[in-house]
Amino acid sequence: MDIFELRTPELTRRDFLKVASAAVALLGLSQALTPKVVKALEESLGKPAVVWLEGQDCAGCVESFLNSLEPPATSILLDTISLRYNETAMAASGHQAEDALAKTIEEGGYILVIEGAIPLAEDGLFCTIGGKPFKDIVRETAKNAAAIVCVGSCATYGGIPRSGPTDAVGYLFRGTQKHHYYDDVGNKPVINLPTCPLHCERLVAVIVHYLTFGTVPELDKFHRPVAFYGENQHENCERRGHFDAGRFLTDWGDPSQQGWCLYLKGCKGPWANQDCWKRLWNNRTNYCIKANHPCVACSEPEFYESVSPMYERQFDTELPGIGRVDIDKVMATVGGAVAAGVGLDMLVSRATGRWKGDGEESAKKDGGKES
Ligand code: SF4
Repeated sequence: MDIFELRTPELTRRDFLKVASAAVALLGLSQALTPKVVKALEESLGKPAVVWLEGQDCAGCVESFLNSLEPPATSILLDTISLRYNETAMAASGHQAEDALAKTIEEGGYILVIEGAIPLAEDGLFCTIGGKPFKDIVRETAKNAAAIVCVGSCATYGGIPRSGPTDAVGYLFRGTQKHHYYDDVGNKPVINLPTCPLHCERLVAVIVHYLTFGTVPELDKFHRPVAFYGENQHENCERRGHFDAGRFLTDWGDPSQQGWCLYLKGCKGPWANQDCWKRLWNNRTNYCIKANHPCVACSEPEFYESVSPMYERQFDTELPGIGRVDIDKVMATVGGAVAAGVGLDMLVSRATGRWKGDGEESAKKDGGKES
């Protein structure tokens, strides 16, 4: 059942090659696998059904996805895959839309994309669609799904809504902790693609991987693909040289400080595991730090509560064997600290553990692999 008026030109062979080789590169696979990916895409043309639900969200993830040009995400969603239901993109509404969803659930075997947090308080009444609590719609839809992909910080760990009164959670996690609310749905792959909003390339690559191999890529303990969330922002930051040299931006209006490290302006890069620094956003134009904005660690389960207020450095750091380090004192004695061989990169290290004592160690620190 096609309920979409919005159509894109049919995928050409060139499009297939572009999507396939982008997905292979994104996932760090051998380019030798590209023909296999192309074949899988061609064979799957119009077959795999996708249901994209939206709960307590701003629709930023689906907007981010539909705005993408490279790879042509809209072509994949509307031509390669059969997108059966999405409140933002579909032209249908009311019974027509709900019937399409019901029929898809009955058929089963679809990929379920969840966007937005799931509020559990007051029996889910903070978010209802067609009179039904979103939490129940998720349960009904998840039961017959072949795989579940949670996109954006809200659907993965609760995101911004988690800091409100609605007991908003992600599909598996409330922050860093699993909540087990959907344990009865059954054991099926759940892939988390946090950041606020979703980066479309990560979703395209996960779907292509699933179509090609019938499996999901390697995940860390927060169910994030290691290929996209296995590296640390701070360790790869273009401003890292300024951090190491103790040059911290303190005045946005001072031209002499442009390009300096944003740590004192609230940058959470030392705690952020993602590849934004090399993937870039807006069709590979820019990303937060390059645009002079601190990284807010929206890739992490603690986002948003633990990073607020965004523009203030609120973390001192714990060093094993040394204890709490006050970065202001560090700055005042930076020469001595560096001379003593205690580089700033050591003083603000991701290896010091997760912030605000959620009790979870960094996923990367212990390998973070999901068995
Ligand atoms: Fe880059 Fe932020 Fe680390 Fe500074 S603190 S080097 S801006 S990631």
